[in-house]
Amino acid sequence: MKDGLRVTVWNEGVHDKRDRKVMDIYPEGMGKAIAGYLAEQPGIASVRVAELGDKGQGLTDTILAKTDVMTWWGHCAHDQVTDENAAKVKQRVLEGMGLVVLHSGHFSKVFKSLMGTGCDLKWREIGEKERLWVVDPAHPIAEGLSEYFELPHTEMYGEHFDIPQPDQLVFISWFEGGEVFRSGCCWHRGLGKVFYFRPGHETLPIYRNETVLRVIYNGIRWAAPSGLKKLVRGNVQPLENVNRNG
Ligand code: ZN
Repeated sequence: MKDGLRVTVWNEGVHDKRDRKVMDIYPEGMGKAIAGYLAEQPGIASVRVAELGDKGQGLTDTILAKTDVMTWWGHCAHDQVTDENAAKVKQRVLEGMGLVVLHSGHFSKVFKSLMGTGCDLKWREIGEKERLWVVDPAHPIAEGLSEYFELPHTEMYGEHFDIPQPDQLVFISWFEGGEVFRSGCCWHRGLGKVFYFRPGHETLPIYRNETVLRVIYNGIRWAAPSGLKKLVRGNVQPLENVNRNG
């Protein structure tokens, strides 16, 4: 087996089996479109596509145990992910698994639970231009990018995005219609890291865009587990001799 990260691309897999427009853009499915790019990149040992319709909703203990970083795309079936499975994914993140949440995944049970806020936003679907500005050029997720990149036709997401203040903010989007959005946000949760990346509306070929795919790849590398095995919590003995009488 190759050295590197074991990635699971979790894809809801509903629109890309049902909606003509989405099937035309992603005949192989959205998950496979993302996974195909990732599998070619250095430092990636394996890429698995897991879907809501798979055994155990693609979130079995075996899959979770063998995942270093998971990407998450969902939209119309967030509520079908069981509370138990969402809790398992959250727990794995707290234990160190990286999570890259894409586009409409902002309303997934897993993301909302990790954020603790409503995660709502404003949106408009008229195919306007988006310009994503790199606002943290030293951040590893910006590696290989220019100071901004553009998507000619996207769905708009606008502020206010109801999230906790990101620990690191990598991208701010500007939209042709005038709104702005924090479109690349990083958080630490327990031993794990979460990266939210906005682009990815299903009826537009967003995951055919090399820069978007590069950012997902960069996000996966950033979110990779640190390797720290275990933290000790609770009441502990001192590491040094403590002079209690001095
Ligand atoms: Zn969308």
